[in-house]
Amino acid sequence: MMATDLQIPTPSMIPGRVTSANPATGEILRQFACATEAQVQAAVARARAAQPAWNEMGARKRTEILGRFQQLLLEKKSEVARLIAQEEGKPCVEALLTEVLVVLDAARFCIDNAYDFLRERAVPHGSLATKTKSGRLLREPYGVIAIISPWNYPFSIPATQSLAALVAGNAVVLKPSESTSLCALELGSLFRLAGVPEDLFQIVAGDGATGSALVNAAVDKLIFTGSVPTGKRIAQAAASCLLPVVLELGGKDPMLVLDNADIETASSGAVWGAFVNAGQACLSVERCYVHRSKYEPFLEACVRKTMQLRVGNGMDSETDIGPLVNERQLRNVEVQVEEARSLGARVLIGGSRLPELGPNFYSPTVLADVTHEMRIMREETFGPVLPIMPFDDDDQAVQLANDSEYGLSASVWTGDRVRGEALAKRMESGTVMVNDAVSCFGISEAPHGGIKSRGIGRTNGRFGLEEMVRTKYVDSDRLPGMKKVWWYGYGESLARQMEGFLDLQFASNWSQRLRGAIKSAGVMVRKGRL
Ligand code: NAD
Repeated sequence: MMATDLQIPTPSMIPGRVTSANPATGEILRQFACATEAQVQAAVARARAAQPAWNEMGARKRTEILGRFQQLLLEKKSEVARLIAQEEGKPCVEALLTEVLVVLDAARFCIDNAYDFLRERAVPHGSLATKTKSGRLLREPYGVIAIISPWNYPFSIPATQSLAALVAGNAVVLKPSESTSLCALELGSLFRLAGVPEDLFQIVAGDGATGSALVNAAVDKLIFTGSVPTGKRIAQAAASCLLPVVLELGGKDPMLVLDNADIETASSGAVWGAFVNAGQACLSVERCYVHRSKYEPFLEACVRKTMQLRVGNGMDSETDIGPLVNERQLRNVEVQVEEARSLGARVLIGGSRLPELGPNFYSPTVLADVTHEMRIMREETFGPVLPIMPFDDDDQAVQLANDSEYGLSASVWTGDRVRGEALAKRMESGTVMVNDAVSCFGISEAPHGGIKSRGIGRTNGRFGLEEMVRTKYVDSDRLPGMKKVWWYGYGESLARQMEGFLDLQFASNWSQRLRGAIKSAGVMVRKGRL
C-alpha cells in the first residue's frame, strides 16, 4: 500500500464538515460545513462579477491596497503567528519566520514589481517583411483564479499566491486545506480590511469534494499545491476542460555534503532542514548524502544537535519542533521508519511517538545505513526524519540525488562555492541551494516549482506573476493604406520577387543578398494585387 493511501480517520473526515483542531492537544477549534457544488459555483460567479472593476482600477491602486494589507499584517504579526501555531502546530517563532515574514516580503515584491511587469511593452520586429508593423505585448488577468492549498504552510502558501493573482488584476476563490480553514479566514479578513472588495477574494471551506467542485466551476486558471496523487487527479480533471494549471507538488529533497564541507555548519543545516515544521515542508531535507570521509563525524554532529531540540506545543516559546498535523501523517512517518528499521537502517536517535506530549508528536529521528530500497529514501516522508547515507565521489553523489521521481529542490554543502555551483547544474531539480536548504521559498524573487513529474509551472517571483496573466499581442500597421505584399495576386512574378526577398534577408554572403535586393525591388509596387 502506498503511504498516501493510508485511510486513518481524522476529525476532518466527518462527512460534510471540516474541522480545525489544535494538533498539539487535539482540541477542536472550529468546524465548518463543506461548501457545496452550488455554493462553489455561486462564489465563482460573484468573483467573476467583481473582477472587471478590480482590473480597471489599475496596478498602482491595487499595489496601494496590497501596501495596506502588508501594514495590517505587520501590526497583527504575533496574533497571526499564534493562530498558525494553534491550527497547524509549528512553533510561533517559526510561524513568524516562515509564514508572516514570507508574506510581508511577497507583498513587497508585488508592490515593487507589479506596475513594471504589467505595463505594455513594445515588441520590435526583426524581419524586413514586418518592419512597418508596431507590436505591443499586453499582460491581462485571467479573470477568476482558483487556489487550492495544503495545510503545512496554511497562511504563506495561499497568501503569496493570492497576492500575485490579485495584483495582476484577477479575482481569487481559495479552497484551503480541510485542516486549516481558520488561517485562510484570517487572510481573507486582512484582505478585506485592506480594501480588497468582498466578492473579489472568496474562501470556500471544505474537503476534496469542494476542491473538485472548484476545479469544475469554470474558473480561468487553477493554482494547486498539494500531494502528487491529488495533483494527478486534478490534472486529469483540468485536462478534460482544458483548464490551465500550476501544480506545486511534493518533494524528496536531497542534500549533498561534500568532502570539503564544514561539518558543524552542514549538520546544523541538515537538522533544521529536516525538522523545520516537524519535517512537513515540501522543501525539507528528506535524503542526506555525505562523503564517506565525513560520514561518522556528520552522524555524530546530527545526533548531538538533535538531542538538544525541544519538542512540544508550538505555543510554548521554548519549543523547536511541534507536533505532526494529525494521526494519519504520524502513522505515515511511523510506517516508513519501521520499514527502514526492518530492512537494516540504524535508528541513531528518535524513532518513536511521544504520546506523553499529546496526540500527534513524533521524536526527531536520525537514521544511518539507509538504502534506496527503503521507502524512507524514495517516498515523501513529510515528518521529522533525517536519513543519512554515505557516498564516495561527486559523480555518485549526483547519481544518488537524481535517483528519484521527485525534483523539487536540492542542496549542496561545500567549502568551495564554484564546485557547489558546478554540481548544482548537474542536479535534476527545480531549485538547488549551495550551503543552505529550504529557505529558497522565502526569497520572493526566486521562482518556486519542481521538475520531472513533480510539478507544472512556477509560483513566486516574476515567473509566478507570469502565471497569473494571459499575454496578448497587439499588432498595429503603420501604413494602413497599403496593401500587403503577401496578399493575393500570386504568380510567377511574385514567386521570383519572393525568392529575391528571402535571399536579401537570409543569404550568408553579401553578393547573393545584393542580387536578392535587386530581384525583389519591385515587390512593394507589385501589379495585379487583389
Ligand atoms: P493534499 O493533496 O491531500 O491536499 C491538498 C489540497 O487539495 C487540499 O485543500 C485538499 O482538500 C484538496 N483536494 C483533495 N482532493 C482533491 C480533489 N480531488 N480535487 C481538488 N482538490 C482536492 O495535500 P496535503 O496533505 O494538504 O499537503 C501535503 C502535500 O502538499 C505534500 O505532498 C507536500 O509536499 C505538498 N506541498 C507542496 C508544496 C510545493 O510548493 N511544491 C508546498 C506545500 C506542500
